[in-house]
Amino acid sequence: MPFTFDNSYTRLPQRFYSNQLPTPVVSPSVIKINHRLATQIGVNADRLSAEILAGNMIPEGAAPIATAYAGHQFGGWNPQLGDGRAILLGEVVGPDGVRRDIQLKGSGQTMFSRNGDGRATLGAVMREYLVSEAMAALGLPTTRALAVVTTGEQIMRDGYEPGAILTRVAQSHIRVGTFQYYYARKDYEALQLLADHVIARHYPKAAEADNPVRAMLDATIVRQAELVARWMLVGFIHGVMNTDNSAISGETIDYGPCAFMDTFHPETVFSSIDRQGRYAWNNQPEMAHWNMAQLAQALTPLLGENADTEAQEALGLFAPAFAKAFYRGFAAKLGVGEDTADLRELVTELMGVMAQGKVDFTLFFRHLTAGVGTGTFTNVKAMFTNPKQINAWLERWDAFSADAALMQNANPVFIPRNHRIEEVIKAANHGDLEPFERLHAILTLPYNEQPENAAYENAPMPEEVVQATFCGT
Ligand code: AMP
Ligand code: MG
Repeated sequence: MPFTFDNSYTRLPQRFYSNQLPTPVVSPSVIKINHRLATQIGVNADRLSAEILAGNMIPEGAAPIATAYAGHQFGGWNPQLGDGRAILLGEVVGPDGVRRDIQLKGSGQTMFSRNGDGRATLGAVMREYLVSEAMAALGLPTTRALAVVTTGEQIMRDGYEPGAILTRVAQSHIRVGTFQYYYARKDYEALQLLADHVIARHYPKAAEADNPVRAMLDATIVRQAELVARWMLVGFIHGVMNTDNSAISGETIDYGPCAFMDTFHPETVFSSIDRQGRYAWNNQPEMAHWNMAQLAQALTPLLGENADTEAQEALGLFAPAFAKAFYRGFAAKLGVGEDTADLRELVTELMGVMAQGKVDFTLFFRHLTAGVGTGTFTNVKAMFTNPKQINAWLERWDAFSADAALMQNANPVFIPRNHRIEEVIKAANHGDLEPFERLHAILTLPYNEQPENAAYENAPMPEEVVQATFCGT
């Protein structure tokens, strides 16, 4: 048996999900199995087969379901979304005691598919595999990728593309939109059951509080604020931070039109569907706060007599938690141990200098880190056509006596750059998986120097720049 399932979500009432088998595919073939992750989460990878990973064969103990949820998409309310192309096979509990969902994404239509075909393209699956695994290697909370299989079927998007299925692992797939679903239906009994489930699963300490739902809300808000701060510190732009793509566990979820920015600009947007810049790099905290406000609203029936006050107080935790995580993280990026008012000013000034100089975000900190070791900042200065401002900033920063070791652990050398991902997808669509394997291997050690892979540190050449990323659903 590959999985020892212990399914808790199916113990919730039937209105939380629909029983749904994956739709078999013509000719499944394994592209990748993440053996290291399998070991970590207590899955026997030797027993995983293309048939199982494609949903053609249901492993023992699985209870396949599509879960119900709602959500605000780009601010617009949708009372029913749900798993339209994903099936939760079941849950496993790892040797670390952590419970995790095993989900097949791209496994066929469900009652929530609306007009979608329930499938995923190989390109989108590879992007999610690479970026989510890179995030994990960078040390950020994220869903994981256990496997990729191709289906042997062609699916229609911009043209025909190979179909694939991702096996996704998450601490749960419960979203802000899951709470919204029951709140909107005024099904407060289900809302309470969901809150109890989330507390037991993700926030066990909250159970001991006087107001457990309030404690759960507080903890969720703090985790979300910290998550977004950490995204920003590595230059990550999620692209579709809708409430249905906002996980209650505090993990990054749903890698669609996401991207790591190359050239620094606070208002950077990649997603082709984000025309207003709603989810721009520097707008992410505001949007996460907005999402948390929707969660607080959905929980008001459970928050007690002074629900509105409780909700407002909880939301008040977001800004300080974000600022703390953001500036602490930035302090580390600059080799500074402490977050002080002076440090915050230094950071603000640096962001202005970086934006004006149009420098590559990751390379800037990489060169800065290397500079501390050698005592000269030639590579940093060379990034600017007019080095006057950066020289002034470097002088100011010098007073903070940066610690190189701190910087090395905070500034990645390798990130999943868009142009590299595009390269991987193009090759994979022609049957060449070597670029995928290579990029994946590099990204497993993102903070390490890898001289043989130095080309992967580079920013894209002008003709390689990816202007927009697509949902690729
Ligand atoms: P997203 O914003 O990509 O996370 O997806 C929003 C909603 O659309 C979710 O309910 C998905 O399950 C659904 N969806 C996305 N792509 C497809 C597809 N190809 N077929 C069916 N449903 C889909
Ligand atoms: Mg989604």
